[in-house]
Amino acid sequence: MHGLMMERQLLISGIVDHAALYHGDTEIVSVNTGGGEHRTNYAELRRRALLLGSALQNRGMSRSDRIGTLAWNNYRHLELYYGVSGAGLVCHTVNPRLFAEQLVYIINHGEDRMLFFDRTFLPLVAGIRDALQTVASFVMMEARDEAVRDEYPWVEFYEDLIAEGDSGWSWPDDVDERDASSLCYTSGTTGNPKGVLYSHRSTLLHAMMSATPDVMNFSARDCFLPVVPMFHVNAWGSPYAAPLVGAKMVMPGPGLDGASLTRLFNQEKVTISAGVPTIWAGLLQHLETSGEKLPYLERTIVGGSACPPAMIERFRDEYDVEVLHAWGMTELSPLGSVNNLKNKHFELSEAGQKKLRESQGRPPFGIELGVFDDDDNQLPSDGETQGNLYCRGPWVLSSYFSNEGGDPLRKGWFPTGDVATLDGDGFMTIRDRSKDIIKSGGEWISTVDLENLAVAHPDVAEAAVIAAKHEKWDERPLLIVVPKQGRTIDEQALLGFYKHKVAKWWIPDAVMIVEEIPKGATGKILKTALREKFSDALLTAN
Ligand code: ADP
Repeated sequence: MHGLMMERQLLISGIVDHAALYHGDTEIVSVNTGGGEHRTNYAELRRRALLLGSALQNRGMSRSDRIGTLAWNNYRHLELYYGVSGAGLVCHTVNPRLFAEQLVYIINHGEDRMLFFDRTFLPLVAGIRDALQTVASFVMMEARDEAVRDEYPWVEFYEDLIAEGDSGWSWPDDVDERDASSLCYTSGTTGNPKGVLYSHRSTLLHAMMSATPDVMNFSARDCFLPVVPMFHVNAWGSPYAAPLVGAKMVMPGPGLDGASLTRLFNQEKVTISAGVPTIWAGLLQHLETSGEKLPYLERTIVGGSACPPAMIERFRDEYDVEVLHAWGMTELSPLGSVNNLKNKHFELSEAGQKKLRESQGRPPFGIELGVFDDDDNQLPSDGETQGNLYCRGPWVLSSYFSNEGGDPLRKGWFPTGDVATLDGDGFMTIRDRSKDIIKSGGEWISTVDLENLAVAHPDVAEAAVIAAKHEKWDERPLLIVVPKQGRTIDEQALLGFYKHKVAKWWIPDAVMIVEEIPKGATGKILKTALREKFSDALLTAN
């Protein structure tokens, strides 16, 4: 017997419909690419997203066609999220920080039919345009600009396109919740980038779950500023979760430096934010030098790479901001776990609670995690046994776009490429990415632990630990650091800092002091580049 309830599809257009209906006057503040701010609201977002959807249909776009974007976090990008997916098309966010060849590869592979871009990226688009095989229209996300048009006659303008839209249009009623809605490519630190194709259903389930108190904890009382870019796994799904609950949104545009963010946080009374550790390191440095505070910010979600415990502490002790440490990946839409305590943990000492808060947290309903050995046998979740982290759930990928790379699953689970421990409450600690972990004399050493300790040293701005080749132990840890401005680092003193904090044989063999640590397109340390440069450093030194 079937239940006798209404059959309503879980569609992305439903989010903006709800936001416009019940939170129509809730503000969206958006920093323009050329400076200044634009203020709009959810009613306006829906009105313009519908005009855009209708214009795209008039232009001959048909079901599941991919529409590319190269853009910052701003209100037009948000309109694209809803207008494109709402019209039954696929919003393909492309990371503009990638190298030109990678951009070309991704846009051609996704077979994007149109490309929308911010003014900032006009030179970039002009440079790759001839290599793009499927893009027929290039739309700059601005009002018509005759000077641009004179120099680049192939450029169209977003506001012209919106003006082509039919104001009586409504969302197509035959979009199925299992239809594709958006496409993101993994950053491809190994091999070619691969596409992850989300559905309306996976996006809605992810958004509904992420808004709950133990996950991102969004509500209509919040003002949310996503620092994480909309081209980095859909800003972790937040452009869906925030309108879903009617939170005010602040879109920071291109200015992600400490000074610009502090100004916006305080001016707009932002209560919640989200971003990668590198961004927060920049913000903390700015606050330290300027003496400014964050009186309104209550919490921030930090993930994408391990958040050093020292950062969690500084946010809490000096700025009264709670850090929610989260783990995820493109293949998981991206949310896999978030760190929030349980009721029983209030009985723990403050130090015990603090320790628990350092891990990557536990999975919400919808995500199941497991640790496995190299033969796909499940290992115990005892908080100690380290294994390959696998996961499954309704917002986890089942296969890559165009079936690239074949079947990625093992026994119905998705292998994440991370090495972790898992305890009986679901608290998960990432030990390393499997390709970064150090194997020294047959024993594992976690680079994440060693990096977290190094950045707690007062002279260190950034740190990375890599496996360097070693004649006797196969691999030994090598510490690479960037000193804080105006500070010098003494190698022996820094290595001494590890004493009594880790096992003696974990202490790195040497320190390399550098001016800069290379980062990939999502702000993560590029360990591949560091290994290329430094992996022989201990051999020559021996
Ligand atoms: P890519 O896998 O191409 O780098 P993602 O942005 O999807 O792109 O990155 C996912 C990976 O980032 C995870 O598999 C994990 O290694 C790392 N990661 C994400 N969040 C955390 C975290 N909180 N702690 C440690 N590692 C993290």
